This record gives sequence, C-alpha cells and structure tokens, in this order.
Amino acid sequence: MPVMAPEGTNRTAIITVDDDPGVSRAVARDLRRRYGERYRIVRAESGPAALDALSQMKLRGDLVAVILADYRMPQMNGIEFLEQAMDVYPGARRVLLTAYADTGAAIDAINVVDLDHYLLKPWDPPEEKLYPVVDTLIEAWRESDHRPVPEIKVVGHRWSARSSGVREFLARNQVSYRWYASDEPEGQRLLAAAGADGLALPVVITPDGEALIEPADAELASRVGLATMPSRDFYDLVVIGAGPAGLGAAVYGASEGLRTVLVERTATGGQAGQSSRIENYLGFPDGVSGAQLTDRARRQAAKFGAEVLTTRDVTGLEVNGSARSVRFADGSAIDAHTVILATGVSYRQLDAPGVDELTGRGIFYGSALTEVAACSGQDVFIVGGANSAGQAAVYLARGARSVTLLVRGPSLEHSMSHYLVQQIAHLPKISVRTCTEIIAAGGSDHLESLTLRDTATGRTETVSAQWVFVFIGAAPLTDWLDGVVARDARGFVVAGPDLSGYGERPRGWELDRPPYHLETSVPGVFVAGDARSESAKRVAAAVGEGAMAVMLVHRYLEKL
Ligand SMILES: Cc1cc2nc3c(=O)[nH]c(=O)nc-3n(C[C@H](O)[C@H](O)[C@H](O)COP(=O)(O)OP(=O)(O)OC[C@H]3O[C@@H](n4cnc5c(N)ncnc54)[C@H](O)[C@@H]3O)c2cc1C
Repeated sequence: MPVMAPEGTNRTAIITVDDDPGVSRAVARDLRRRYGERYRIVRAESGPAALDALSQMKLRGDLVAVILADYRMPQMNGIEFLEQAMDVYPGARRVLLTAYADTGAAIDAINVVDLDHYLLKPWDPPEEKLYPVVDTLIEAWRESDHRPVPEIKVVGHRWSARSSGVREFLARNQVSYRWYASDEPEGQRLLAAAGADGLALPVVITPDGEALIEPADAELASRVGLATMPSRDFYDLVVIGAGPAGLGAAVYGASEGLRTVLVERTATGGQAGQSSRIENYLGFPDGVSGAQLTDRARRQAAKFGAEVLTTRDVTGLEVNGSARSVRFADGSAIDAHTVILATGVSYRQLDAPGVDELTGRGIFYGSALTEVAACSGQDVFIVGGANSAGQAAVYLARGARSVTLLVRGPSLEHSMSHYLVQQIAHLPKISVRTCTEIIAAGGSDHLESLTLRDTATGRTETVSAQWVFVFIGAAPLTDWLDGVVARDARGFVVAGPDLSGYGERPRGWELDRPPYHLETSVPGVFVAGDARSESAKRVAAAVGEGAMAVMLVHRYLEKL
C-alpha cells in the first residue's frame, strides 16, 4: 500500500496511519493545516505500510516527532503497530485514535506501548480536540532526548575491549549507532576515509564526519548530545547515581519544584538498565526491559526539569556550613542544600588468573546486551546463581546454541526466585553446573578456555569457551565517603534509626532532632536504594526510597 508523503527538505515528520482512506486524509489534512510548514506529514493506510515508511526514514536519518495510529485496523491493530514503531523510533510520542467503545483497549495500551494519549473520534473541532494534544506532544518530544545526531558509526573489532565498552556506553544511553567490523570491507573503507590505521580502535564517526579515535566516555558523551556540565553552581538537591533510586528521586524532586541535578558516572539506568527483563516491577505484567524503563524514567525526569549529567564521577562530599559540596573527579564542584546518595552497587570482579586481561574480549560483567547478537549460535557461560544470572540465561538462550550456568553453591533454589528456576528447568538449551567455580581463563587476544573446579571434589577441568557473562554479586563503591558519612563494615551507607539504635543520637550528631529515616550521619545528606545498609536490593524498593528521600528533603529544607 502506498505511503503518501510530500517531497521536501523537512527532516522531521508526524505520521498518521488509518485504514479508512477518508479518515486518513482528514487527519492528514488537519495536521498539515497547522503543522505542515514545520513538519512533514506522512500518512499511511495500514500498519505494515507505515512501518515500511518508518524504516526508510530511519535509514535516511529523518526524525519522527509524533505517531497517530487508528486502533481498529485489519492485519495489524494500532497497538501492535505502535509497539513495533517504538522499536524504530522510541522517542516519538504515541497517540491512539479510538472510537468510544474501544477506550478499554486504549487504556490497556498505556502500559504495552507507553501510550502518551488516546484520542476519541471524531476529533472535531481540531482546534479544541486535536491541536492541544499534538502541541503538547511535540513540545514533550522537543524537550526529550530525541538525538539530533541520528547516525553515528562505530568501527571496531569484536575482541577489542574498548570497542565493546563504547558500544555498551552508547547503548545504555540509548544513543543509536551503526556498528562496522574493522576487518570487513565497509569498516576498512570508513577507517581509510577517516585516515585511521585501525590499530587504535574503535573509531567513532559523528554525523558531521568527525572521527574520534578510541574516545573516552566523557568525550563521546559530549559529542553525541548528552549533557556533562552543570548549568548552575547551586542546587536545592544533587542526586548522585542515576539508577532507579536516583531517577526516582530526580522525578519527584524536580516535579515538586526543587532545582534538581542528577549526576551519573556512566549511563542512566544503573543495574536495572542492564536487566534484559524485569518481571516483578509493579504495573508491568508482561515485564519491562531495563532499557525501556530507564528511557521512560529519564524522559520523565527531564520533562519535569531535572538536569541529567552523564560521565561525571563524584569523588568527594564536603560540608560547608549549610551547603553540601559535591566534588567531581576533575576537581570541579557544585553546591546544594541537600544531597541524595543513590550510588547503588557495582559488580564484583571475578578473581582468577587471566580474567582481567580478557575482560571485554569474551569475558563481560553484567549482561552486556550489545554482545548478545554476536553470541547467536554460540556456546555461552554465565557465572552466578542469583536472579540477575538467571534472567541473563533465559535471555541468552533465545539465540545461543547452549547456555551453561556456573553456580558455586549446591543448587539454584536457595539463591534464585522460584519463577526463574522454573523457566530455566523448561529451557533445554540451558544446563546448570552447581558446585563449580572458574579458577583460570586462557586465550591470546580473546577468551579461548576456562579452567573449572568442582568445589565438592576439588577436580579441575579445562573447557573451550569464547563467551562468559559474570554476575557474582555486587559491592557498594563508597570509599570516597570515608570519614564524611557513616558506613557499615561492607561499605553500605547507614541511615536513620540504624545510625544509633532507636531513641539515641548518633555520635557527632549536633541537631536537636534525630536523623530522619533515610538521612545519613550528615544532616541534609540522604541515601536511597541499594547503597543503603540493609536495603531490599529491588527496583521497586529503590524507586520508593528515591521518592521517600525527596519527601524528607522537603522536611529538612522547611527547618533550614
Ligand atoms: C542484571 C540485573 C537484573 C536485575 N533484575 C531485577 C528484577 O528483575 N527485579 C528487581 O526488583 N530488581 C532487579 N535487579 C536489582 C535492581 O536492579 C537493583 O536493586 C536496583 O537497580 C538498585 O537501584 P539503585 O538506584 O539503588 O542502584 P543502581 O542501579 O546500582 O544504580 C546506581 C548508579 O549510581 C552510579 N554511581 C555509583 N557511584 C557513583 C559516583 N561516585 N558518581 C556518579 N555516579 C555513581 C552508578 O554508575 C549507577 O548507575 C537486577 C539487577 C541486575 C544487575
């Protein structure tokens, strides 16, 4: 079915899809009347035709601001279409056109396709019913990270650790890029055009043709449109760490009028951002990927006016009277009335000879989702017996030839949720080796073998291996808080009643009141999520603590 779009130079489109040609023309006419000068109005008469058009636009590097889809269409209904359209243009705002009788389906779609709005037909007069909706969505789209640079090329090598680091960084920040292997013709052509010898990889080519050789995360971030510098030097609230707790705090802080900045060392999402599917977060009965949840949360924080800085490592916290100073690795600092520590935990490293050298060259921490395609048809090992390892096993089993879960303990049951143990038991590609640990990794430029030890018998065995994903627990990286904020023996930050036992003041605490629940040993500095001593280590708990910490920030500010 043809797609009707006017020729022109405008690179940003509004798409409308409706199987009734009359309705389709009418929507397009109304849209063109108001938005035709600034946007290309593209209309299609079926979901598949619209998807074709979206793919072509993607290849050309065009942008899409808003997609309006009719709900009732043969072949593919509006929700199914929007779900697929999201994969192509995740940032485009989504509207479902429905008849009154279909509002139930539209409400259901809010979770499935993260619907922004449903519009009842007829939408007459458009000035009242259509334009205010589309105006708001365009505004939201313009304010969101819709990436003004759609086409970034990364030329690298499969076994170059920095190449996989760069891909991981871009993917976790939802920056789209195209990957070219340096040993394939197109990759070599690009290297030649960039004047690069191919010894230092990767080479990242920005859309305006600039070649960055082996760029560091901060340089990359600034070239792909991610904010790295604070816009002011004083805030009401600095949130450190952009996992679920930090994102939750930023959404609540900014939406409640606090001048809020969220500072993240690598990429937004934290551990949750690396989860292939979170199945137990409230409101997502079909599960939600960490990347989707992160993307939505970040847009939400930005919508409310929170500043989000990436690639900024916080290395110090100082108390200067009523100001709390947050120092960055480069020595610069920002001040605030209050701070929320939401620094979570980081993966524990596997301690065995050969592992460090081969990290990024076959051994990966976390799910390294960017590597998943390369594992297709391969034999994969996963180390760990907790939920994160189980989720990764289920996810990788879709494409890999086999998945072997290496578990140090005697069974999965005591460390993994029942639902995952069940899923694993029903997937014939996954085998579980209990009482097993890795004692060495071998390979020249990439992983070739693992030496495994049976912890029950002490017997060792060397197996051939190219892909290992490690999930062996995590530790808080809070040494930089030493001497400033009280921490427990494992480095987790102690807060509220845990600081002193109920009823007593913690040592050195000078205020008349005891610390609030999530308040640390420094008044006005709060902690939320996995970084807190005795925390629940769950997405929902982290988000909830982020929200609660903001409530306590208000209480603190009222008495300042
Ligand atoms: C693979 C995987 C799957 C999981 N699946 C589930 C699940 O299905 N359900 C569930 O409930 N939970 C799940 N979890 C646990 C859940 O993800 C965590 O409990 C949650 O992410 C904790 O959120 P957080 O914000 O406290 O910390 P984190 O998610 O750890 O985020 C902390 C952030 O702070 C940043 N940071 C740290 N130090 C600094 C610093 N000094 N300066 C700047 N930034 C800093 C880090 O880079 C990180 O982005 C999973 C975890 C993993 C790893």
